[in-house]
Amino acid sequence: MSACIFKLFSYSYRILIQKAIFGFRSNQVKIQFMQKIIKREKSAELFEEAKQYFPGGVNSPVRAFKSVSGPPLFIKKGDSCILTDEDDNQYVDFCCSWGPLILGHNNPRVREFVIETVKDGTSFGTPTKLGNQLGKLILDNNKYIEKLRFVSSGTEAVMSALRLARGVTGKNKVIKFEGCYHGHVDSLLVKAGSGLATFGVSTSAGIPESFAKETIVIPLDDRAALSAALEKYASETACVIIEPIPANNGLLLQDKEFLQFLRDECTKHNVLLIFDEVISGFRVGFEGAAGYYGIQPDIITYGKIIGGGMPVGAYGASKEIMSHIAPDGAVYQAGTLSANPVAMAAGYATLQQLLLPNFYENLNHTTKLFAKVIQDFAEKMGWEITVPNIGSIFWLNFSKERITRADQIQAEGMEKFKVLHHELLQRGVYLGPSGYEVGFISAAHDNDSLVKALTALQESLEIVYK
Ligand SMILES: *Cc1c(COP(=O)(O)O)cnc(C)c1O
Repeated sequence: MSACIFKLFSYSYRILIQKAIFGFRSNQVKIQFMQKIIKREKSAELFEEAKQYFPGGVNSPVRAFKSVSGPPLFIKKGDSCILTDEDDNQYVDFCCSWGPLILGHNNPRVREFVIETVKDGTSFGTPTKLGNQLGKLILDNNKYIEKLRFVSSGTEAVMSALRLARGVTGKNKVIKFEGCYHGHVDSLLVKAGSGLATFGVSTSAGIPESFAKETIVIPLDDRAALSAALEKYASETACVIIEPIPANNGLLLQDKEFLQFLRDECTKHNVLLIFDEVISGFRVGFEGAAGYYGIQPDIITYGKIIGGGMPVGAYGASKEIMSHIAPDGAVYQAGTLSANPVAMAAGYATLQQLLLPNFYENLNHTTKLFAKVIQDFAEKMGWEITVPNIGSIFWLNFSKERITRADQIQAEGMEKFKVLHHELLQRGVYLGPSGYEVGFISAAHDNDSLVKALTALQESLEIVYK
């Protein structure tokens, strides 16, 4: 389906993009000049109304646009890579619902299978054949897990995985990395304490200090800190949890060697290793980061793409580890809407398409090219921007340095991002509303949209650096 689109990204097309980007526009190169279109009147009105109903007017904090300017967009429609807001402005979307929509918006096969399924009812609270089908599809194509359990969100998957790790090991402490996000799980909404203490300090009100104390926080990409924490606390520690591709606080790509070291240290100290693949799972390849790096964690969590835009999460592990989950074992975990058939249908229709030949190769190649064009342009202009990318994830890093730890991100880059975000909206391009958020390219991002977005990025960055 989208293979033909990708084929166009040949060498000559690359020249075309670069021409577009570097401003050599000819008559053959039909680039629409950007218009300053957007009025956000209806969005602004709806936002005022929403404030009466929801804290901050939203149901998830980052949607409120606190880190960028203006009211959040109220979106009424998504189709392929295009969002339409209530004021009828259109945007090329690089947020993609924060990651789930690897096929873009309103993918026809996903939509049709969901509609077909929902005709038979929305929820039964019983096992369904569709649950089996999605489970089989995943397990048949992922050698890193032998059994899984479906839940309804990434947070729920992580929370359940932690309980499982504690139940299996009989130990309580958890080691996490600064700059990794794992959903709003109590014991993981924690940052490093000051001074020498590695014990966590909660980053949210309402989390008992005693919970935060069970979490040890260390920097990413720091072998010494990892070894020290394990040497000191291994006897009390159930697991180390990491986003193997940390993508919630910038894109803090780790060396494979560090991840392998982490695997080896966990094995050596008899501590379980959890890969939180809610964002990387099915994104950098069908087997996620585990497959990308060829590293076997003990438990893996999934979310986002697995539900094809519906609320689904999952955690999986070996048969032995999963045998600890109720009703087989003593670790209790349940869900009224778990493996909901309509959500299973969306997941199934999505994941099936990811298994088509060359799906990831093409998408990942497009992303690399997209990032390279921005990077080349920035270099030509002498701007300190790099565009780290992996799979179909990219991030605008306002620095020339390669960044692997949260503390290396400069706050002033976020000020630049704020201007950039605004200018991009004016030109019909939607990025997640914070400079710490990564962007996603979907299989529905066609050449025209990407060229349009690159042109808008060029113009907007010129304003940022004026
Ligand atoms: C998004 C995300 C979560 C939380 O998932 P929700 O579905 O928002 O609860 C957890 N871990 C990672 C790595 C994520 O990217």
